[in-house]
Order: sequence, then C-alpha cells, then structure tokens
Amino acid sequence: MQTKRDRQRIEMTLLPPLESLIPEDHYLRRLEKVLDLSFIHESVRDRYCQDNGRPSIDPEVVIRLFLIQAMDGIAHVRELMRQVQVNLAYRWFIGYRLDEKLPDHSTLSKALDRFGDEVFNELFERSIAKCRESGLIEGRVLHVDATTIRADLHRDRVGQPDSPDPDARYGHFPDGRTKPGYKQHTVADDGSRVVMGITVTPADRHEHNEAAPLVDKASKHLESPPEAVCADAAYASGRNYHDFKERGIRLVSPPPKARNGTGDRHYTIEAFVYDERRNVFICPHGKILKHVRTERQRGRRIYRGLRTDCRDCPLKPMCTGGVQRYLKVSVHHSALIKLRADSRTADFQRLYAKRAPSIEGVFAEAKQWHGLGRAWRRGLAKTRVQCLLVSAVLNLKRLMGVFCLLWSRNVACGGLLSRIWRAVASSIRLDVSYRPCLA
Ligand code: SF4
Repeated sequence: MQTKRDRQRIEMTLLPPLESLIPEDHYLRRLEKVLDLSFIHESVRDRYCQDNGRPSIDPEVVIRLFLIQAMDGIAHVRELMRQVQVNLAYRWFIGYRLDEKLPDHSTLSKALDRFGDEVFNELFERSIAKCRESGLIEGRVLHVDATTIRADLHRDRVGQPDSPDPDARYGHFPDGRTKPGYKQHTVADDGSRVVMGITVTPADRHEHNEAAPLVDKASKHLESPPEAVCADAAYASGRNYHDFKERGIRLVSPPPKARNGTGDRHYTIEAFVYDERRNVFICPHGKILKHVRTERQRGRRIYRGLRTDCRDCPLKPMCTGGVQRYLKVSVHHSALIKLRADSRTADFQRLYAKRAPSIEGVFAEAKQWHGLGRAWRRGLAKTRVQCLLVSAVLNLKRLMGVFCLLWSRNVACGGLLSRIWRAVASSIRLDVSYRPCLA
C-alpha cells in the first residue's frame, strides 16, 4: 500500500543527549580532545565590564565558532551561523542544545573588535607549545616562505583615502597577476609541518626582510636554534646569510646568478676575487680595485680600478665600456660568496629539496581546506586574526594525528583509500594531510 508521510506532523518528543549523535571518529571530537581553551576567560577578562551591562556570549563559545570557521574554511560569519543552526556536530562543539537560540552573527564581528588579536595569538602560540610537548616538533630544519591572500577589495580602490580596506596593497599572486591583498610570512618545522611563527603584512612588502625575525620567533619554542633554515631565492642575500650565521644557523637558499647592468657583454662580479683582509677586489687582469665609498642607506660599497690600469688593459672590451671599472657590491658581499660556495654542495641541494613539499604543502593545505586564499574581513588586524586562526587549526590538526587515523582506517581495506587519494592529490598538486571525506 502506498503511503505518504505527513511532513507537517514531524516532531521529536524524546531527544537523546546531543553527544550521542556525534560519530565517535568525527573530526570535531578529535579536535575537542586536543583543544585547551582554559585560558580564554582570563585572557579577555579586561575586555568586559565586570559589574554592569547585559550578560555576554561566553567568549569560549565565540572562539569555538571561529575555530569551526577556520577548520571548515567558511568565509562569512552569516554562513557560519546558518551552518551551526543545522549542524549537530557544530552545536555540540560550541555546547548549545538543539532548542537553544544561537548568538547572532553580528555578535561574532563585535567580539572580534572587542578581543583584538592577542587572544588569537595566544591560541596559536599554545598550539605550538602543545605540538612541542607532544614531541611533534623536531626543530632541526625550518622552512620560511610567504603566501599571498587576496583582499576583499576592488582593484581601483587600493590606497585610496576612502578605501574600504586601507591596508591592502598590490602584490604578485601565483597566477602571475597583480592584485590587492596581504602576505602571510610563515616559518614551519620540516618533518611535522607545524607552523612555528607567522607575520602578516600588506602584499607589497618584500619577504626578504622578514626571515630572521620570523626564525627568532620560532626559536623561542625550541631548546636550541635550528641547524638550517630553507627558503627560496627571494631570501638569498649576503645580509640574510650574515644574519643567520650570527645566530649559528645555516641559510639554505639558492643565491641569485651574478649579473651586471650590461647583460652578458662584461665580466660579472664573480670574475673578481675579493680580498676580505685588505678590502679590495682583484680583477681578471690582476689589478686592484679599491674601496672608494660606502652608500649606507643602500647598504652597498663602491670599488674602482685605476684609470691607468684599465686604459691599457687587453681585457677592457670584456670588462667595461667606461674609462675604468666600477664594482657596486653589498656590504655583506663576503657572506654572499660563502653562500654561493655552499650552494654547490650536495648537502645544500639535499636540504633545499625538502623546501617545496614542506612549506608549499602547508600553504596548499591552508588555502585548499581552510580558506586562506581570500581575506574574510577587511584590514590588516582582522586578516592577521584569520591567519592566526588558520595556523592554529593546522597545528591542532597535526595533534589530532590525522595521518595516524587515516592509516588505521585504511588498514582495513589494504590502504586502498590512501593510495587512491595520494594519486589524485599528487596529480592535481593538493596537500594530502587532511581529507574531510576520509577523516
Ligand atoms: S679593465 Fe681594468 S678592471 Fe677590468 S680587467 Fe682590465 S684592468 Fe682589470
């Protein structure tokens, strides 16, 4: 007999505890196990009036909602609250009953203004500390790099006095185009890919200057400074090599090819031998180029050959079109020479090969699954909050042991799911550490 359900009369009279409805292996259950938000109330106590006003939403609930947002990459708080309304696991995670009215989405935005970024920074710092206590962080090799985040701003409004996002600046994005946005400078541990420190800047800030302060931040979480820091060619300079050497750290960053302003017609700096003791260069003809002045603001020194030497030199057509040869070099030129020499060793190449899978994997994961590709809010401070949240979530995921769980679940089917996933992920260049569909 055919029947038709009367949808108007669906009503639930008896409800089991909400927790019993959440699957044992749900990722929010595993997040709950590694999450410690005991510091939240104390951390934001002075942001609330203690003896006046309406009762607030529990600040821990606010942080939990933001964690859901970062975990599942939900860009807008309106959408987040719509999802929380109908998602049992989300409700359980924030501790709200099914019949309880949820906070309004505007409460989250107000809370963000009230909290500032300190509490999110503490959440991130604690996630690193927990990874260290769990023995996840090896700390011998760190990777430094930067990634761009597209700002929620029209191209024509960048830098305008009435711009809705006055902090966003043009930067180069991976598709080769220039767009308004921000940059997240990141340092991550090699083996565990735990994010050890971040800095957020407008997208026009060059990453070169951020490396040493970032590594200093990360080193505070380690017993001793790392042995090596790997970074791409944007960080390769005599100054960075010098700064890291002072800290007892080896910089593994491929130095740029030596060039001069006349293309391939004339000798580059590499044809000249630097005598550090006398602070002079010896040219290919065996003549001396003396130091004539230092341009402190540009951080470079000028060396010059003698007119009489250059005038009669048989190598002059290969050396200079001028009366005499000038060399303009960084004040850290001797460090750059050492970096160039080191870059030819096999150990340097071996370490550098670890860079892309580690740090690029972290960025791919953050953008693919956690919404770091676009800024959720406007302004540098709020983008920083987003970056801190996403970085904290990445670290919490390492703690959740996604790899282990996936492995144990796939053992039952001979690792078939993992193999299929890895094949798909490598073909489309995705990170493989987090698959909501399998986890
Ligand atoms: S042109 Fe002057 S600097 Fe160049 S190789 Fe000859 S002597 Fe040396």
